[in-house]
Amino acid sequence: MSRFELGQVVSLKKGHPCGENRWKIIRMGMDVRLKCSKCGRSILLPRSRFEKRVKEILELPEQENPEKE
Ligand SMILES: [Zn+2]
Repeated sequence: MSRFELGQVVSLKKGHPCGENRWKIIRMGMDVRLKCSKCGRSILLPRSRFEKRVKEILELPEQENPEKE
C-alpha cells in the first residue's frame, strides 16, 4: 500500500502543538518523517501509526521548487 509519497503534504488527525496541521513527508521507509510546514520541526512516526493518523492528503509533491531543509 503506497498512496503516500515523498513530498506530499498531509493533515493528521491531530495537528502540531504550534497550531499547524500541514505536514510534508520528507522521508518514507519503515518510519515516516514529517515536517511541520509552519515551524519546520520534524517528527518521526512508525509507518503503521502514520497511516492511521493521516486525515487527508492536501498537496501532491512539487517538482519545481522542493523545499529543502
Ligand atoms: Zn509546528
